[in-house]
Amino acid sequence: MSDYKIQIVHLYPDLLNLYGDKGNIECMRKRLLWRGIDAEVIRCTNQDSSFDLTRADIIFVGGGSDRDQEIVCHKLLEKKDELKNYVETDGVLVAVCGGYQLLGEYYQTPTAKIEGLHLLDIHTDAGENRLIGNIILESAFFEQKITGFENHAGRTSIGNHQPLGKVIFGHGNNGETGYEGVVYKNVFGTYLHGPLFPKNPQLCDHILSCALKRKYPDFKGLAPLDDSLENQANEYIVKRFTQPN
Ligand code: GLN
Repeated sequence: MSDYKIQIVHLYPDLLNLYGDKGNIECMRKRLLWRGIDAEVIRCTNQDSSFDLTRADIIFVGGGSDRDQEIVCHKLLEKKDELKNYVETDGVLVAVCGGYQLLGEYYQTPTAKIEGLHLLDIHTDAGENRLIGNIILESAFFEQKITGFENHAGRTSIGNHQPLGKVIFGHGNNGETGYEGVVYKNVFGTYLHGPLFPKNPQLCDHILSCALKRKYPDFKGLAPLDDSLENQANEYIVKRFTQPN
């Protein structure tokens, strides 16, 4: 094992875990361990929501129903300043779907306005129909296309922020702009659910590298892994939706 150690804080896996978002935690942990880097996972749940961000290197929050999102947001608002400080000091935060919507100013559902954490200058309004299906993105950060599955009523406006990727198949932030997700410092918000990291190893490594660079100034980069199976899964989906025969 190396001397490096990464702490991953998983926020509310008991409430926001649609399509198995929590598998992404295992993927990050394994990809670190395979490089000899120790990873500690702290789960903050609805039963035990006392969490400490002072040692956090990566925070992950998944997606879920409007109802569960509201419960989580209410709890997280108590930690708003701490989260803001974490983000502004380059802490890595990955937020999927419902979690992504919570990063902004608000999420307006058909029946309620859920106040967001105001970490980013973005906002979300629910549309009349849901944007559902497979989605493929071209990323500005690495070569591999990002593949995933989206299912959201919310339409997110990211203002002048940088998106995570350009939609080449699917809906994205609001079905209109042709962009998906948001990146601000080391914050990554996306509508892509479920096995995001297992199917997108370059995205996972990009995020792990951000955390390692922040914590260890001498970090030189991640050793390559044999990703042939992961790449095959990724390429199969890309081909299926971008080159129909
Ligand atoms: N409840 C939100 C929406 O419908 C987020 C859904 C989700 O996380 N899949 O837009």
